[in-house]
Amino acid sequence: HKICICCGAGCISSGSEAVMKKLQEEIIERGLQSEVEIIPTGCMGPCNQGPLMKYLPENSIYQKVDCSNISQIVQSQVIEKKPIEHLLLFADSRERPFSNADEDPFFSKQLKIVLKNCGQLNPERIEDYLVHEGYRALDKALFEMSPEDVIAEIKQSRMRGRGGAGYPTGLKWETVYKYVNDQKYVICNGDEGDPGAFMDRSVLEGNPHRVLEGMAIGGYAVGASKGYAYIRGEYPLAIKRFEAAIKQAKKMGLLGPNILGSNFSFDVEVRIGAGAFVCGEETALIASIEGKRGTPRPRPPFPAESGLWGKPTLINNVETFAGIAPIINNGGEWYSEIGTPKSAGTKVFALAGKINYSGLIEVPMGTSLREIVFDIGGGIQGGGEFKAAQTGGPSGGCIPAEHLDVKMDYEALVNLGSIMGSGGLIVMDQSSDMVDVARFFMEFCMDESCGKCVPCRVGTKMMHDLLQKICDNNASRIDLERLEELAVYVKEASLCGLGGSAPNPLLSTLRHFRNEYETRIGKYE
Ligand code: SF4
Repeated sequence: HKICICCGAGCISSGSEAVMKKLQEEIIERGLQSEVEIIPTGCMGPCNQGPLMKYLPENSIYQKVDCSNISQIVQSQVIEKKPIEHLLLFADSRERPFSNADEDPFFSKQLKIVLKNCGQLNPERIEDYLVHEGYRALDKALFEMSPEDVIAEIKQSRMRGRGGAGYPTGLKWETVYKYVNDQKYVICNGDEGDPGAFMDRSVLEGNPHRVLEGMAIGGYAVGASKGYAYIRGEYPLAIKRFEAAIKQAKKMGLLGPNILGSNFSFDVEVRIGAGAFVCGEETALIASIEGKRGTPRPRPPFPAESGLWGKPTLINNVETFAGIAPIINNGGEWYSEIGTPKSAGTKVFALAGKINYSGLIEVPMGTSLREIVFDIGGGIQGGGEFKAAQTGGPSGGCIPAEHLDVKMDYEALVNLGSIMGSGGLIVMDQSSDMVDVARFFMEFCMDESCGKCVPCRVGTKMMHDLLQKICDNNASRIDLERLEELAVYVKEASLCGLGGSAPNPLLSTLRHFRNEYETRIGKYE
């Protein structure tokens, strides 16, 4: 039997390391070492129920475990083989908790491809990853496929980049491949900075080798020998685990010169972000790796042609690279059949806000918002009313209750005035003030604006001040008109995506909740 303890940042913050220590002591005390293996894992999913402990193969998950529960759990579950119902996951809210957690809608409605082994393997041991088909895709790519074959497979999968823009991954890889140069680079963008987003962090913490394998396959496909993983400085655990993964992979010949005895050499280094949201924008990120101030530059040329140090560069985000190995192992066709006609595969969301079960989930593209909020997320806290879901962070927008049945994919969200973004999903109830939500995101963009171009630097400040005025019930109709006019200018004239999308939360709340703006102006008039 195995007992997995979630040692992702969320569960660690609620005390999982102390729980693991106590469990180890208990197992030794009872002489059960030969019967039970304790595995510290990455994120299991239902983060707000942590610390989480999973007993395998029965797959019973215990929630909010503290040291005082350990003896009872070991006695009942490990020795007597009987789950303790009142400690099982969701025991406090489901009518009957499932002793096999996979039967609970939180898990049964999900499809885990990127997160498949997160929460099951020890992310600090390459051996665990190898047992779960680790590096098999790299081996297959190197010895059974040409770079063209790999690109064809990714193109066939119809995968789109998970960083937010949704650009076809295979097409991007092919573009970099076609530029002939003595040096090319691969960059993994792990500078996740949207408020409410923690997908990349969880993947890096929970299965770093999967990301590394995806980067190496990317390097082989486009002809790059060097990779950089740019990870937010606020993610020390992700950095530590990713750096450990690099060392282990090098030691086993899975990274470095002549990988697995082939002609392909590929090395990866970590670069740590210094807290600027704008460095998630690819040209700013490249400048930052080059040691310059992290500010965007106009495109073209795109990084695929002239990226890091002027060389052709493939940039994808963490989730995209983590999705590569399963495509190579199972084929592009397999992946393309999951999801919707225009958005294949699955999407990882960081579910947060006024929802009963928040955490990390992965669903097929096309899953409805209703299923995510009510089946997986267990509905609104305290029996409250769903008001809106904010997707796409400061570049996104709010989806109101009348669109709860929207099938979540790239196009459907754009049609509603929001975006998929990288996967932040914040649920709001009736107590949320939508003008204040718009003001919050505008303040974020104002603070994070790099200041390089006037529309964004000045525009976000002006829009923020007008929104503040409305929140203070101090604005007139002219202020609202000015706000709408500014939104259009800033959107069209900003140099990069940060400014270009900064008005989105404002525009989407104006579209779906205009009455909340009108009411406040009405008070002034
Ligand atoms: Fe900088 Fe904003 Fe201009 Fe982007 S849009 S370059 S963040 S000032």
